Amino acid sequence: MLDEKRLKILSEGAKYDVSCSSSGSKRQNKAGGIGNACFGGICHSFTQDGRCISLLKILMSNDCHYDCKYCINRCSNGTERATAEPDEICKLTMEFYKRNYIEGLFLSSAVVKNPNYTMERLFDTVKKLRTEYHFNGYIHLKGIPSADKLLIERTGFYVDRISFNVELPSERSLKLLAPQKSKSAIIEPMKMLAMDKYYDNPLKLNRRKDFLPAGQTTQMIIGASPESDAHILKLTEYMYRVYKLKRVYYSNYTPTNFNTSLLPQVQAPLIREHRLYQADWLLRFYGFTADEITGEDGNLSTEYDPKCAWALKNLGLFPVEINSASPEMLIRVPGIGVKSAYRIMQARKNAKLDFCDLKRLRVVLKRAQHFITCNGKFMGSKNEYAIKNLLIGAEINQSGEQLSMFGGEAGFSALTGEL
Ligand code: SF4
Repeated sequence: MLDEKRLKILSEGAKYDVSCSSSGSKRQNKAGGIGNACFGGICHSFTQDGRCISLLKILMSNDCHYDCKYCINRCSNGTERATAEPDEICKLTMEFYKRNYIEGLFLSSAVVKNPNYTMERLFDTVKKLRTEYHFNGYIHLKGIPSADKLLIERTGFYVDRISFNVELPSERSLKLLAPQKSKSAIIEPMKMLAMDKYYDNPLKLNRRKDFLPAGQTTQMIIGASPESDAHILKLTEYMYRVYKLKRVYYSNYTPTNFNTSLLPQVQAPLIREHRLYQADWLLRFYGFTADEITGEDGNLSTEYDPKCAWALKNLGLFPVEINSASPEMLIRVPGIGVKSAYRIMQARKNAKLDFCDLKRLRVVLKRAQHFITCNGKFMGSKNEYAIKNLLIGAEINQSGEQLSMFGGEAGFSALTGEL
């Protein structure tokens, strides 16, 4: 059994990977098996900063052969090393699951010896878990770039989700900070796992149930290298479209104990990570493109959320009439999310809507009022400078409501992710 000392080292080493959160796959337990996975997100449990904590998140080894400058596990760092055997990880997962500590496993590893050796050990672990320990719960595996394609493909039959982490958003930064990695080694497996044969139909709407049912994700480190938000979001947009990724995660760079002029010595501002998550939401659910939501300097505004920033840049398109605007335009109004736009579309079939109705339909009027009319009536400000100040005020209030986790229109928006 994995002793406490190694367990501590291996779970500490895994905490920098944020590319796990939702299960997103559904599988019932089988006779003689244990556990199940469900769309409801059995592995959902979030810390205050929104990160998932209910998976057993562990490294198979932190004894890395590579020397990525930003990483605590790099070979040149004098950190304590530990490695777990496949059976030790399997037993630990089963014990934790039976005690209700966890609902699934997030398994990652440093590159031990070489990519194929590491991927083989990871494959052995998940295969054993499924076939010998009959674990039927959720498994998210961190894939090892440069490993054999056949091995990666075979692994896909035993895990729910896999992530090949992009880490740094350009080839240039990879060369500088993670010299043993390359863009093609990371991208190629993503490309392979997005092939038509892994989907139920040519439109690629659903993945096959027996192969990576929860799809692929990736992670990018923000602020360790100089790429702009526009660069990061264009790459994100491309990966969603071409590789059908389920999620892209952004991890704020935190300096490690490595003194080098190649890396910033201070932590990147958290607001940047927050804005990228908001922008990512707009790419996936609101029909925005990366070009539309980044500013002239190539970055997202820190003052306003990306949807407000876009609306302020395009004031000429507003106000829009709530009772006749297209659904595409409704969801572009700050304060109207996808769900509230749907409610508006339904409600206005029966009657003309006024501002009181909008409140009831969970529209965040503090923001929306400057961009809409209801039956021709306008309640916002026409002064651009005043609107900007009011929107900043609304965001500050929303932060307060988020902290209290109580209701209120902005609090609702914060909880649902609607912008
Ligand atoms: S491959 Fe790079 S990022 Fe991954 S554990 Fe090794 S040093 Fe860290």
